[in-house]
Amino acid sequence: MSPISSSELNSAEHRRAELARNLAEVNGRIAAACAAAGRDAAEVTLIAITKTWPASDVMLLYSLGVSDFGENRDAEAAPKAAACADLDITWHFVGQLQTNKARSVARYAHVVHSVDRPHLVRALGAAARAADRELTCLVQVSLDANPARGGVPRDGVPGIAEEIAAEPGLVLGGVMAMAPLNAPPADAFASLPDCSATVRSVRAGATIVSAGMSGDLEAAIEAGATHVRIGTALLGGRTPPVM
Ligand SMILES: *Cc1c(COP(=O)(O)O)cnc(C)c1O
Repeated sequence: MSPISSSELNSAEHRRAELARNLAEVNGRIAAACAAAGRDAAEVTLIAITKTWPASDVMLLYSLGVSDFGENRDAEAAPKAAACADLDITWHFVGQLQTNKARSVARYAHVVHSVDRPHLVRALGAAARAADRELTCLVQVSLDANPARGGVPRDGVPGIAEEIAAEPGLVLGGVMAMAPLNAPPADAFASLPDCSATVRSVRAGATIVSAGMSGDLEAAIEAGATHVRIGTALLGGRTPPVM
């Protein structure tokens, strides 16, 4: 092992300070949005989306009090989760998921946000049972019916919710959405409360509402989000870091 140089130490400390500043700012935004919506900030969980950033950033954010992390590609998430295996982290898989990746994802993920088709429900169920784990799954709803970004159209939500609820190894946890690309922020999440009610009618405990990213977390909290997925505002722009 090579000795740690003082410049490496300085850059780790610099990064820690930067992340601490960003985290304080994001937590401030969440608190303000909850206050504006008449909600308790304790109802909202911050998920740090660490895609393209190294495991060292996960560890720094963890040391600053973040315990929920999300990734959107299995090839990147699996080694990062392994590098952080001794930390008490809840891992969220938030990207579009091919069925042939279900086995890998089921080994480290606790929550899969992007469940949008029966074939994927069955693959995740089989993978969870093979890994002897229970996977919480969210129905990803497409608010703009744009198939490129994943998700089921609203009228497909009950069907997927029932498939998840019936699948051994899976727990129906709630609903996930991304804002439509061209909607004004105030309208973006207007149909989210209805979608959540639909999923809760299948399983009363399925109360997770995953919505809100760096640019629209306030609108999402106004519409009832319980989990916000924040990348850029916490970690910075996604030019790939030097590792
Ligand atoms: C990247 C990503 C996010 C975070 O987006 P930012 O705008 O960087 O906060 C949230 N959700 C999903 C599904 C993502 O892929």
